[in-house]
Amino acid sequence: MTRTTAGTRRDPHPAPPWARGDAVVIGSGIGGLLAARVLLDHFDRVGLLDRDRFPETPAHRSGVPQSHHAHGLLLRGREIIEGLFPGIEEDLRAAGATVERDRVPFQVVSPFGPLPLPPLDAEFSVYSRFLLEWQIRERLAAHPRLRLLEGTEVVGLAARPGSERVTGVRVRHRGADIDAVSVLAADLVVDASGRRSKTPDWLRELGYGEVAEETITSGIGYASRFYAKPDGFPGEWSGIVVNGRAPGNPRSGLVLGIEKDQWHVTLGGFAGAAPPTDEAGFLQWARDLPDPTVYECIRIARPLTPIRGYRTPVNRLRHFERQTRWPAGFVATADAVCAFNPIYGQGMTVAATDALVLDECLRDHADPPRGGVRPGFEREFQRRLAKNVAAAWTVAGGEDLRWPGIALHGARPRRGGKAVRRWIDLVLRAAVADPYLSGRYFDLIMMMAPPATMLGPRVLTHVARAAITGRLGVPGREFGLTDAALAAVRAFPDAGDMSARAG
Ligand SMILES: Cc1cc2nc3c(=O)[nH]c(=O)nc-3n(C[C@H](O)[C@H](O)[C@H](O)COP(=O)(O)OP(=O)(O)OC[C@H]3O[C@@H](n4cnc5c(N)ncnc54)[C@H](O)[C@@H]3O)c2cc1C
Repeated sequence: MTRTTAGTRRDPHPAPPWARGDAVVIGSGIGGLLAARVLLDHFDRVGLLDRDRFPETPAHRSGVPQSHHAHGLLLRGREIIEGLFPGIEEDLRAAGATVERDRVPFQVVSPFGPLPLPPLDAEFSVYSRFLLEWQIRERLAAHPRLRLLEGTEVVGLAARPGSERVTGVRVRHRGADIDAVSVLAADLVVDASGRRSKTPDWLRELGYGEVAEETITSGIGYASRFYAKPDGFPGEWSGIVVNGRAPGNPRSGLVLGIEKDQWHVTLGGFAGAAPPTDEAGFLQWARDLPDPTVYECIRIARPLTPIRGYRTPVNRLRHFERQTRWPAGFVATADAVCAFNPIYGQGMTVAATDALVLDECLRDHADPPRGGVRPGFEREFQRRLAKNVAAAWTVAGGEDLRWPGIALHGARPRRGGKAVRRWIDLVLRAAVADPYLSGRYFDLIMMMAPPATMLGPRVLTHVARAAITGRLGVPGREFGLTDAALAAVRAFPDAGDMSARAG
């Protein structure tokens, strides 16, 4: 089924005069949606394909099983998405997103204690992944030059033999005869089909050889559930993040206060340790977190859904930029290139920065006199994308390698990795008593500042002062998030017998 426009057909992003031809995006997750938005500035027409059929309201769909698990959007990701879709934060709020003013958006419990984070000056809203995806999709579906093709599964790339150019995609319409494959022609194909992308197989089939990749065997397990936030709950946060504590406690927890006064609770495990999906096991996992607040929240809240599990053995970086040959007319982006350990909440934000790289690279390769894109764009894009994801991949991989049993394959461990981890530990130990350092660390994990910030002169001075005065957090202690936050949760009565409450 094809959905084109709803409502007015005024073009909010008229294409520049040199825009030519058709672009097609495989996959309409966050990566594909943002890529499609950018392509509207460079091509006459954009086709956005997904094997799923889309729900009429913000809801889960089978092609994105991860949306059952809490998705935090980092500050950098918010900034970019608002830039690409001006007013979307407003719309998200109108659709019920939680809005916070002058508050700390997330309480973060580091392995050395809670971080004293300064409140943000700006308003801050919190929403589920499926509400965000729905809002973006609705905006794009209303665009007169975008065609949304649902129930359309891409089964391969189309190319003329020996031409070194991809000319479109081979698609099967879901529900149709298994052999009914047709070709959808395009001047540029963008693969945004997520962490299970078949691009390496498709390239091999076309004779482009094997794609080099790095994997980290993080062995992530998640278990999640939606809860009704208790009426009148006074907690001063929209989210609580409790990190596991290497090497002994691989349990992490997240409570995200999303739209409709719900708490989206996700428990996580590392290195093959997965939280159970039965009532008793789920609760016990929450109880065994290094901080009691997540458990206390679950105790007082009413479950709305069953508990859902998710496991992913490896995180993967595909080195498309190292291919000796690469077809014109084809690029890959977002999770199809780099699928991070979800625990650090980087995926959607990196997908947003990938979209900016696509825009910049298309601008640099625009061909105003003749129209279209100059040769060399595709390889250059994969090179720039590799640079774009490198810092986030290194930060996440460095954290993963703290855990016994987790290994990196396909690359040598980065030189100085252990020294970096020791330094970050020292910064964090100092940060638990220092709002300045907490703020810098928060900027780093929200991707508002590059990793090099952690070596800035002011950071060095603050850490040195904490070390000299002995004001350093100690690993291994049990924490209460903040006395006030924990007291607020504990003041609420227990919601009753857990086993009888799933709605
Ligand atoms: C458990 C978990 C928790 C996460 N938590 C966070 C978080 O807190 N914060 C964060 O920023 N990120 C998080 N992420 C990562 C985030 O989901 C992704 O990085 C982000 O959505 C970008 O993904 P994507 O668009 O590349 O792929 P996806 O979102 O996976 O979308 C891929 C799309 O492609 C479609 N598709 C696949 N194959 C085909 C095909 N052959 N033909 C047509 N369509 C196809 C699918 O139906 C789907 O719609 C998490 C991931 C997981 C697994």
